[in-house]
Amino acid sequence: MLQQQIIITGANGQLGTELTAALRARYGTDSVIATDIRQPAVAGTGFRLLDVMDIEALRALVTDTGAHTIYHLAAFLSASGEQRPQQAWDLNMQGLLNVLEVARETGCRVFWPSSIAVFGAHAPKTHCPQHTVTQPGTVYGISKVAGENWCQYYHHVHGVDVRSIRYPGLISHTALPGGGTTDYAVDIFHHAVRGEAYHCFLAAGTALPMMYMPDAVAGTLQLMEAPAEAINIRTAYNFAAFSFTPQQLAAAIQRHLPEFACLYEPDFRQRIADSWPQQIDDNQARSDWGWQPRYGLEEMVREMLAALTANAAR
Ligand code: NAD
Repeated sequence: MLQQQIIITGANGQLGTELTAALRARYGTDSVIATDIRQPAVAGTGFRLLDVMDIEALRALVTDTGAHTIYHLAAFLSASGEQRPQQAWDLNMQGLLNVLEVARETGCRVFWPSSIAVFGAHAPKTHCPQHTVTQPGTVYGISKVAGENWCQYYHHVHGVDVRSIRYPGLISHTALPGGGTTDYAVDIFHHAVRGEAYHCFLAAGTALPMMYMPDAVAGTLQLMEAPAEAINIRTAYNFAAFSFTPQQLAAAIQRHLPEFACLYEPDFRQRIADSWPQQIDDNQARSDWGWQPRYGLEEMVREMLAALTANAAR
């Protein structure tokens, strides 16, 4: 039996691709088992097929590998969840409950991402606090609120060390995003470096909280490495970097690529975006475990364009 492994579910997704690489860089390649329901684009060692709905397979993997931590990322996101609400509820709830049950049985620690989608129309739009009304307008948001409460329950009642972050929209240049309302903020860069106009599915003035992936990954590792006594929130921490509108992002790209054009054609995702806060107060994460983002909008745009331009030249 291998000892002291980390298991990641949904590891082929936008977040999992980067978190897997970061965890391997930090704790050693052999210490991290990436799992997903589909094969990775590039085959490699340390990958196993795993459907998180199959609790027997999950339990067997944790027991066989002696895993001490599960990063549970497999989920339906906000926009795809609105198109398949029943499936989204089933995966987001049962997948999490399977992970929490196996953690209770085996003593594993758990990281599980929540989202700014927990907030709904009645939460403050700016400086949205840690503790406020959570009445989400999406199936995804409902599943995240319920999931946060399950996490807190498993911590209080069963002593499971489960930790969570309410991620804003994540921007990255490796894996493509998987069906969220903030996906435009990734897609726009791919069009810009190809020299194409971008048709944005949100209105020009829709401000949303966002974060560059290196900050999201660094914050996640920081939360998981913090001493247990520092963790005062067992639902999920507010977590923020910067906010911008599609128009502000397009303008930041145009400072590097003046020919770039963005057109605004809002679709069903506008309703979702309008129900979310524009800006998040993450003071509790900053004071409890020292969270501090490194990237602002301009630094993120510069790095995204440089990385995607380099990829295109290969
Ligand atoms: P993604 O859609 O890119 O990836 C999800 C992965 O889960 C996919 O690789 C998919 O194949 C896998 N998966 C689907 N069903 C599965 C199953 N039954 N068993 C195992 N794997 C399965 O999602 P992401 O953007 O990487 O998000 C990861 C987590 O972070 C999710 O919980 C999401 O809600 C949360 N989150 C993401 C963002 C964001 O902007 N990306 C923002 C807030 C929260």
